[in-house]
Amino acid sequence: MNETTGADKRPDWSQIETVLLDMDGTLLDLNYDNHFWMEHLPLRYAQIHQQEQAEARRHVTALIQAQRGTLNWYCLDYWSRTLNVDITSLKREVGHLIQYRPGTEHLLQFLKTHAASAYIVTNAHRAGLEIKLAAVGLHQYFDSDRIISSHDYGEPKESAGFWSQLQQTLDFRNEHTMFIDDNDQVLEAAARHGIAYLYGIAQPDSQGEVSGEPYIRIYRRGQSSPSDAQLVPMLTDLGDLVP
Ligand SMILES: [Mg+2]
Repeated sequence: MNETTGADKRPDWSQIETVLLDMDGTLLDLNYDNHFWMEHLPLRYAQIHQQEQAEARRHVTALIQAQRGTLNWYCLDYWSRTLNVDITSLKREVGHLIQYRPGTEHLLQFLKTHAASAYIVTNAHRAGLEIKLAAVGLHQYFDSDRIISSHDYGEPKESAGFWSQLQQTLDFRNEHTMFIDDNDQVLEAAARHGIAYLYGIAQPDSQGEVSGEPYIRIYRRGQSSPSDAQLVPMLTDLGDLVP
């Protein structure tokens, strides 16, 4: 497949009525979350419970991995209970790492001028969400009714049930809807629901790896051959979508 420039990835904006945006790893640098869960939390857990650090890290990491892809994984109340620490206040300790990804403000400024309705659609828990919205000032771009947490629906974005509930609430038309997310399983769920304009993120974490692939292949329900796959462009800079 040929290399594509940013401009090739731009949608025909006259076709877009609804824009759904993931938050962590899409609008915001995933470094904050990765650093918190993999470094800061195990360290503070060891201090709070007076455990040896390597032991605490193994314990915390194993518990976290066991909940991957579930709502518990994203639920701060669950982790406060399970680990017996105040997760929200520990999250505030590294709040300086909450930052926009490249091009986020460029895209959000553009969306203010565009007729499409833009929403944050996140698996983030409401408590953690508030810390992030306040840290970078996301409220200036999204009124509170434009911020949707999957916790309100009781199902994560990875599940089909989430997407049918979201559609009932927002009443968007799939063929005129754009969705950007850094999580492949979430993109797959959105593709299966029928959302037409999908985008992935090449480097969700500023300190992490960059995907060299210009596209990821997503299979809709009932498809298996490579020619049926939906090609989802990977974005490095969200501003590449702006005309
Ligand atoms: Mg994400």
